Amino acid sequence: MKKYVIVTGGVCSSLGKGVAASSLGCLLGSRGLRVRMIKIDPYINVDAGTMSPYQHGEVYVTDDGAETDLDLGNYARFTLSPLSRANSITTGQVYQEVIQKEREGQYLGRTVQVIPHITDRIKQRIYAIGDDTDTDVVIVEIGGTVGDIESIPFLEAARQIIHELGKKNVLSVHLTLIPEVSGGELKTKPTQHSVKAMLEIGIQPDVLLCRAPQFIEPEMRRKIALFTNVEFESVISAHDIKTTIYEIPLIYQQQKLDEIVLRKLELPVGASDMSAWQKIVDTHSGAKQRVRIAFVGKYTDLADSYKSVDEALYHGGFANGVRVELLKIDSEKLEKQASPEAVFADIDGILVPGGFGSRGILGMVTAAKWAREHGIPYFGICLGLQVMVIEFARNVLKLEDADSTEFSPACGNPVVILLEEQIDVKNYGGTMRLGRSETHLVDGFLPRGIYGTAEIFERHRHRYEVSNKYRERLETAGFKIAGLTPDGELVECMQWAGHPWGIGVQFHPEFLSKPVQAHPLFQSFIEAAKENAAARGAG
Ligand code: GLN
Repeated sequence: MKKYVIVTGGVCSSLGKGVAASSLGCLLGSRGLRVRMIKIDPYINVDAGTMSPYQHGEVYVTDDGAETDLDLGNYARFTLSPLSRANSITTGQVYQEVIQKEREGQYLGRTVQVIPHITDRIKQRIYAIGDDTDTDVVIVEIGGTVGDIESIPFLEAARQIIHELGKKNVLSVHLTLIPEVSGGELKTKPTQHSVKAMLEIGIQPDVLLCRAPQFIEPEMRRKIALFTNVEFESVISAHDIKTTIYEIPLIYQQQKLDEIVLRKLELPVGASDMSAWQKIVDTHSGAKQRVRIAFVGKYTDLADSYKSVDEALYHGGFANGVRVELLKIDSEKLEKQASPEAVFADIDGILVPGGFGSRGILGMVTAAKWAREHGIPYFGICLGLQVMVIEFARNVLKLEDADSTEFSPACGNPVVILLEEQIDVKNYGGTMRLGRSETHLVDGFLPRGIYGTAEIFERHRHRYEVSNKYRERLETAGFKIAGLTPDGELVECMQWAGHPWGIGVQFHPEFLSKPVQAHPLFQSFIEAAKENAAARGAG
């Protein structure tokens, strides 16, 4: 029998439900269980592809090219759950699927309604993941907060799943907040109300994860248990941590969360091995040297806009025993600086991440120029590579009007262009090169050595490509092509010759990085930044 854990949230948003669900997945995985993760987003968008990073944080891309919620990135970092289009469910998808079926006449003249048709479709999508033969536990995270109008059909589907499969097979884990009021006192009332809201829709939570600014003492947990009908030991203190988010599974394990869940689901409690996670926390806490990375992008105001890149940089820090400090620089503001010297004075490495649209490009070009001319390790991801090409063409090839046709459609030297077959396509959300594909790394350049292999597979999410017309000129002047698609048609990876570490990639390596196994490019980039720091006597 497949087991299900439904993770919901109460009181307010942004309590870290994704990390909580992932941490539970991590712990169950460490006991040998095959865990599958599902994220439900109650918004009407069919996927996250057209959503601004300002609105909803990073768009996480899966191997099969689904543009999903950033929580799938948490799942990828904390668990071994395979992730594809099927693991991300939105209201938009469910309605689209039901309406499609209705148009095909498959409802045989019946009135199509939220209950049972929408809820049935939600259940089918959830059960489909559990039907994989190699699955033991499916963790379903329902986005939003209990009480939101838009999450009602999903909560109703969850209630029905509990009813159909029984409490031994489905567990409700509810994440709530224990706020601190002036005077430092913790308050349980919002949690009591949140559990009441769950009861109103017919779900009695089995486990409470209580977010709080400090450890919640047993006395208070006993009170919460009494008022919410949850067993005392199942009221878990999910207090703020001072180290890294990767300590969260360990904090849950200290309170036996995994054993409680397994016992309730009548699953065997196998031996757990969390030593790799403990090692990360120890490395992070013990790291004496710090490495400062300037992160030059356009969505730097929102913390989650580049979530996977941030995390991959931290992973690189764990692998090198250093503490990575990110200095988020709004590229638009950099444009207005007379000299970037002040900004980059105390910097060990520069990263320019992905992005869309012309705003702030000049600031990114400035950052790339500074890194290239001053021998500072530079990592360009997707747009960050395209920016390197524009900068090199303008400043080294002296093509002053070099640009990407994304920003300047009629420029004299279009060094980054749309592929022929993509021109005229106006359907945003469906025209990009998306998902996993192969790259051949060229012998003799850094990336080939960093990966230790010539054939690599990475994920993509972009429309524009480095123009093949400029390849020769770029290479002759010292900007080398270090990776191509297997047919040699598209540039995937470039490197500045004669520079300690100047690499740009058209793909998104950040999606494959894990805390326990940093992505080789991020590991190597932080290593180069660490060496730069040591050479400057900083850190
Ligand atoms: N805007 C660029 C393109 O579409 C880069 C995309 C990205 O960085 N993800 O090609």
